[in-house]
This record gives sequence, structure tokens and C-alpha cells, in this order.
Amino acid sequence: MQKNYLQINKCPLCSCKTHKFNNLNIESYAFGIKKINIPRKIKIKECLNCGLFYKDLIPTKIFLKKIFNVHASSVWREKKLSYKYEKKQINQIFKDFNKKLNFIDFGCGSGDFINSIKKNNIIVSGVDVYKYERLKYIINGEFFNTFIEDKIISKYKYDLFTFFDIFEHLYSPNDLISNVINISKKNNSFIYIETGSSESVKNIGDWWYAKLFEHHIFWNLKSIKYLCKKNNLEIINYSIKQHKERMYMNKLKKLILFSLYFGSKLTFLNKILTRITKKDLNLVGNVYIQDHFQCILKIK
Ligand SMILES: [Zn+2]
Repeated sequence: MQKNYLQINKCPLCSCKTHKFNNLNIESYAFGIKKINIPRKIKIKECLNCGLFYKDLIPTKIFLKKIFNVHASSVWREKKLSYKYEKKQINQIFKDFNKKLNFIDFGCGSGDFINSIKKNNIIVSGVDVYKYERLKYIINGEFFNTFIEDKIISKYKYDLFTFFDIFEHLYSPNDLISNVINISKKNNSFIYIETGSSESVKNIGDWWYAKLFEHHIFWNLKSIKYLCKKNNLEIINYSIKQHKERMYMNKLKKLILFSLYFGSKLTFLNKILTRITKKDLNLVGNVYIQDHFQCILKIK
């Protein structure tokens, strides 16, 4: 069991060891209906230097891959989101996509986002640890079947790098950014990030987003500023928002999930509902809360 997990003794972003911590409020993880045991209590440390929150015990890449290979297709179903908000933001950067552009989506899943911005003058590429069949009809550039931060050898130089709910999965953010800069057009390329906002939650140890097995680190404005300073990036835009999936969710589903969230606070009700829904209700969280941020960084 122990060898399935890595102990993290310093900040994955700045290597500093000074921290405050909270306990992650779980007895085991759940990935879909699969229960995943943990060898000990997990702490979430807040780096006092760069502001990043990070777990002190995380699954190894090999262990993650093993779980993903068996269960990912049932957990990460096609979501068919509209990406209206994101497209508007990207339109503004590239002045309505007039030029020939190269985009790459990290953690592209079944290709919903790539598909929504695809045009004749745009090369769309993707990176994902899991390969969906549907991608071969969507991608007109390259596809890399790897972990997000693994080194990529590309035949293109990219204008835009997108990361929707990806930055919380990283083992080494600096490795990823140096890979990105390598395959960018340097001072005219942009990085679009959307991830959980650790500064928007009261108790990080109770946050649904931190209770996910595959989420290792949690960002905020302070840690993004540190990342930018270290890698010569400039913040163009930063705003707190709702989780993308929840932003586009219909009102009735939101209301049902909100009721489940309150139900899950009562242990007996949680047990009954977990059995019926086959989902861990601890992971529902308050669907109305703005606990994410989006930011656009420019490579200088
Ligand atoms: Zn740090």
C-alpha cells in the first residue's frame, strides 16, 4: 500500500519547507464508485513562501494510471459543455481568430473544448493521459498520450495553451511551464488556466475539490504570481468564478445537488443516499459557491 503513495516534504512550486497545515477530512478516497484506501491521514500544507496548498501524501503516477485505466471511462464521461465564456475570452486575445493559430489543450478529455474552438485556420492539438476514440475526428494537429507534465516534442509552435481543471493535478508545475515555453511562440503566446481557488474556501480540509484522489495542489493569486515571477510570465487577467461544469448546469440539477450537499451533512442520510446514488456525497460540495478562478498569462 505504502509504495502506491509519495510523501511530499517540500513545496512542489518553490521547494520551501515552511508551512501551516490542515487535515484532509477523509478516511479513504473514492474514484467513481471505487474506494481507494489511504495509508495514513493526509495533511494539506500551505506554503508560507509562495502560497501554494499541497497534500503531503499523493498517489504515484503509476498508481494513478492503474486506477485511471480501469475506471476513468466511467468517471470522466463526455460532458458537452458550451465553453461560451471561455471562447469569448480567447476571442478577445486573438481578435476573433483572424490569423492562422495553433492551440493545444492539456487534459483535453473527449475533446469538447477543442471541438468548440475548431476552425479552418486553427490547428487544434491535445494532451491527455486517457485517449478517447472520438478525438481522432476532432484533432487536426497532434495528440500526446502522456501525463500533463511529461516532456513533449512537437512539430508546431503554439499560440495558446489551455488548462481547464488541470493545474490541481500537477506533480511539478515548473517542469510543465518549461515544457510549455519550449513549444510556444515565446512572447506572443498565452496560457489559459482554470482551477480551484484555495483562497475562496473557509476550510480546505473539507473542500470537495481537495477530497479528490487525483488532485494534489491548490492555487490562489499569490501562488500564480510566484509562478509568473519565476518563469517570466505576465498576468493579463485573473477572476474568481464558479466551477465550469456548475456554471453551465441547469437550475433543477443545481437545486438537487444543493439538497444532496445538505443531506450529506447528516451521516445516516449520507449513508442511504450514497447507497442509492452509488456516489460519494462528500464530494458534492455547495454548487453555488464560487470556488474556482480563471487566469490568462502571457509568455514574455
Ligand atoms: Zn511554495
